[in-house]
Amino acid sequence: MRKPVIAGNWKMYKLIADSVATVLALKPLVANANHCEVVVAPVFTAIKTVTDRLEGSNIHVAGQDCSTESKHGAHTGEVAADMLRDAGASHVIVGHSERRHLYHESDSFVNRKAQAGLAAGLTVIMCVGETLEQREGGMAERVVRGQLEGGLRDLTASDLDRIIIAYEPVWAIGTGRTATPEQAQEMHAFVRRVFAGRFSQEAASRLRILYGGSVKPDNIAGLMKQADVDGALVGGASLDAETFARIVHYDR
Ligand code: PEP
Repeated sequence: MRKPVIAGNWKMYKLIADSVATVLALKPLVANANHCEVVVAPVFTAIKTVTDRLEGSNIHVAGQDCSTESKHGAHTGEVAADMLRDAGASHVIVGHSERRHLYHESDSFVNRKAQAGLAAGLTVIMCVGETLEQREGGMAERVVRGQLEGGLRDLTASDLDRIIIAYEPVWAIGTGRTATPEQAQEMHAFVRRVFAGRFSQEAASRLRILYGGSVKPDNIAGLMKQADVDGALVGGASLDAETFARIVHYDR
């Protein structure tokens, strides 16, 4: 039985005071959400304050990214995965399409970040997804397979319970255009098959695969009804506590 994950990616929004106000508003709204894991990913500078204020709650905190480097050293501007852990985070997002496209992160770079996150004891949410051009060119599966194979390289069986895949078609992120539940299911089933081929059927059956791309309170239920959709990575709609809580409670 896979426990669903509903994760909110706040991107580069919210100062510390707003981040704290949002989680304090969210806390009571999701306190009884035992059916899923709830995660929020504030900006780096807010993580410590947010985790302190969330102590004892069922809301987990993620970094939105981490360094490829585990060893502390001369890497100006970088944040090591164990520094995220030190600040209270339990999860880290790697390979978000904004990092891949705006900052040219390759699959091997994403792989190094995943390895760094795992080595620090974090649960890694690895994002994959094709662009509109790639989908229309019939390349979606090939692209996603490449991202998975590159991103998961050298991971071992013991890492797999701390890997979550987020399928986020780039054409659906922040566009208001969501994949249909059927499109999401088709790609999620494909991701699970690739994972089974790379590792084992057993590991694949435990893998949680989140959908991301304009998830809102009114489309989450249809997505969650799909056999291989195990949760959501939510951008815009996670910024407001009440809206995000409605997504968390997709089962009502
Ligand atoms: C995201 O940032 O991962 C995302 C899916 O954004 P949105 O929900 O706004 O499309």
